[in-house]
Amino acid sequence: MIPASSSELGDWAAPLDRFRDLSERFQLHGLLFQHLELCERRAWLHMNRIDYSHLDERMRLGSVNHAIHRPRDHSVEGLIGVSPDRIDWDRREVIEAKGSAGAREAVSMQTRFYALLLMAATEKRWTATNEIIGGRKRLTVAIEREHLETMLAMAERLAELSGQEWPPRVSRKSICDACSYRFLCGFA
Ligand code: SF4
Repeated sequence: MIPASSSELGDWAAPLDRFRDLSERFQLHGLLFQHLELCERRAWLHMNRIDYSHLDERMRLGSVNHAIHRPRDHSVEGLIGVSPDRIDWDRREVIEAKGSAGAREAVSMQTRFYALLLMAATEKRWTATNEIIGGRKRLTVAIEREHLETMLAMAERLAELSGQEWPPRVSRKSICDACSYRFLCGFA
C-alpha cells in the first residue's frame, strides 16, 4: 500500500499508515472499536463471530430500525472494506446513522474509524458526523490528534486480542445489564 505522505496530513501520516495497515492485516472494522470502548470481552466475542443479538429484543428492534431508516445511498458505492452509511465527497465528511445519542464516545468510534481510513486512502483530512436516525440530530465526531492516537492504541489492542484463544476475563459492570452477551457471561 502506498504510504500517506501529503503535507496536508503532516505528522498524522505515519500513525495513519500504521492504523490502516493494522486494520487491513487483522481485518478490523468500525464496530470492533465501539465494542472495545465498552468491554474487551465483548470485542473478542464479536471478533470471533459469536453473536447473541438475536436473543435480545432491544437489539432485534434496533437492527430492524437501522435497516429501515439507514440512509445509505450511491455515495458509498465502490468502497472496499469501508462501509459507512453516507459520504459527502465534496465536504469530505463521513456520516453514520445511529439509533440514539447514548454511549456517545463508543458510537463515535465507528464513524471515526471510517474517517481515519479515508484520510489514509485520500491523503486528505476528513470530518465525521453521527446522524441520529430519522434526521432528528447531527452530532459532530471530534477527530483530533489525541483521537488518532487512541484509535491507533485500540487497533494495537485489537490485534493482540485477535491472537488470544480465549476471551479476556472481565468483571461485571453497569453495561452488562443491557449487553446481549450477558447470558453467555453469566451476568444476566
Ligand atoms: S455481558 Fe458484560 S462482560 Fe460480558 S461481553 Fe457484555 S459487557 Fe462484556
